[in-house]
Amino acid sequence: MVAIPTQPEVSDEVIFIKGARMHNLKNVDVAIPRNKLVVVTGVSGSGKSSLTMDTLFAEGQRRYAESLSAYARQFLMRMDKPDVDYIRGICPAIAIEQKVTTRTPRSTVGSMTEIYEYLRLLYARIGRTFSPVSGKEVKKDSVSDVVDYIQSLAHGTKVQIMVQLVTRYGRGLTEELDILMHKGFTRVYSRAEGNKAFRIEDILSGETLVGEKELYILIDRIVVKDFDEDDIHRLADSIQTGFYESEGECILETNSLELHTFNNRFEADGMVFEEPSPNLFSFNNPYGACPQCEGFGQVLGIDDDLVIPDKRLSVYEGAIACWKGEKMGEWQKAFIRNAAKFDFPVHKPVAALSESEYDLLWNGNSKVSGIRDFFDMVSQNLYKIQYRIMQARYRGKTSCPTCKGTRLRPEALYVKVANATIANLLSLPASDLYEWFEHLELSAHEQAVAKRILLEIDQRMKTLLEVGLGYLTLNRLANTLSGGESQRIQLTKFLGSNLTDSLYILDEPSIGLHSRDTERLIGVLKSLRDLGNTVVVVEHDEMMMREADYIIDMGPLASHLGGEVVAAGNYEEIIGNKMSLTGQYLSGALSI
Ligand SMILES: [Zn+2]
Repeated sequence: MVAIPTQPEVSDEVIFIKGARMHNLKNVDVAIPRNKLVVVTGVSGSGKSSLTMDTLFAEGQRRYAESLSAYARQFLMRMDKPDVDYIRGICPAIAIEQKVTTRTPRSTVGSMTEIYEYLRLLYARIGRTFSPVSGKEVKKDSVSDVVDYIQSLAHGTKVQIMVQLVTRYGRGLTEELDILMHKGFTRVYSRAEGNKAFRIEDILSGETLVGEKELYILIDRIVVKDFDEDDIHRLADSIQTGFYESEGECILETNSLELHTFNNRFEADGMVFEEPSPNLFSFNNPYGACPQCEGFGQVLGIDDDLVIPDKRLSVYEGAIACWKGEKMGEWQKAFIRNAAKFDFPVHKPVAALSESEYDLLWNGNSKVSGIRDFFDMVSQNLYKIQYRIMQARYRGKTSCPTCKGTRLRPEALYVKVANATIANLLSLPASDLYEWFEHLELSAHEQAVAKRILLEIDQRMKTLLEVGLGYLTLNRLANTLSGGESQRIQLTKFLGSNLTDSLYILDEPSIGLHSRDTERLIGVLKSLRDLGNTVVVVEHDEMMMREADYIIDMGPLASHLGGEVVAAGNYEEIIGNKMSLTGQYLSGALSI
């Protein structure tokens, strides 16, 4: 007896496949309801993939390609028409496969989800730079900062806007003054000679004499009052001139007494800092990438794990693999002897050493030779074959010493938001990072500037947690993810895209998931459906079938004994269908 699957009416509400014959499919007619979550199930080899990937997806892709211009089409893979009479009502198809497609080795969870891009924007907008020398915040003054300062002074305060007069390129004072006059400046001001202003013209003509000490170019004088718009323009102009003429340092003198220096260079402690910009935080960009490892986070060097393969051992027990044998063993003895003077615990397992103890072991000091000293000795003896072998044995990819594996140039890590660098955030598991953002306190101004960015981050973080990937860190490399993990990350992207009226096809997305995560995944697939998409899932998972709007059961058996639609309908209909093996298992009538 031939099974007659219950089919929805052929209408606009369905994608109707007529006469599918790919591989083992036996001239299959099947209707797939649109804008629903549809599970295609059946034993392995029953024709599930032939129907979904090789027929439905292939035709969806082909139709999409045909809608493009001939020019655009040449960039797409040539797709053969699947062996099928026709498919009616198909929409653009997107297959989300488990296999990891070729990606750049730099791609990470952060870049796949776009969260990294938004974090970069966030740091560029509201990140604050701190000097690694003093720990003080690096600030630069803008013209409006100076205007604000002047407006905050008491009415009646006399303010002089000026800059230091510096003679440049070996020029004498007269020559310098001559140039200044040609630039349009008319007066200088001396703090050394009674806080007085002098006309440059008079000095040049020899009428007055003035010393070079504490001499300033006087740009403007003003008395503080309720400034009108014109006053403010004039102030801003003068301050701008000051910054320009002095290459960044504008000085105010108030009431012929106090000096206030404003700096519009981004400097502190004798260091020049980079102003935060999105590219400063990108390891994919030459500007932001660590110069030593070029943004890979790893360099070839002495590999800690090869030198100390078993960190449960102490130095005394021979944890340092390269300090063995008659000759090299002397290094271990010397270390034990000398390190004792610095209270180094030679009997403590390496794993239990404090940071400073571990540092002594590697870097030594003036009295103790550490592991690095040992390898320096090795590299000086490379003309001998046994040393070359020694070096090769312990060389490997190791965390880059310049960026400590963060892949960013040091300047990027001077910038913080709420006391955290972008590298700190990227190394947190997504669930912890989400919490960090929940507790993030920003000033009203920062809040306003970052509002949009924070929304985008929040939405993406939420979906990442919803699909059960809260344990991943954003700096996790894409090529180390499992197929299921990368599939779910791709899903988060489509969820955010608000693309509608598309056909999504997924191949066993629940593989390797705990039931709680499967539940979340189903939630995501339903959201995708509710956005107005058709979601077709090849799946055996019972929970997935129970939650599906429609189930298509392929079979009855594998290869030439399969290739037919045995049953189709909602969960209850499948359970009630005696022809459906899947239904019988689900209802408990059969057990595996
Ligand atoms: Zn580096």
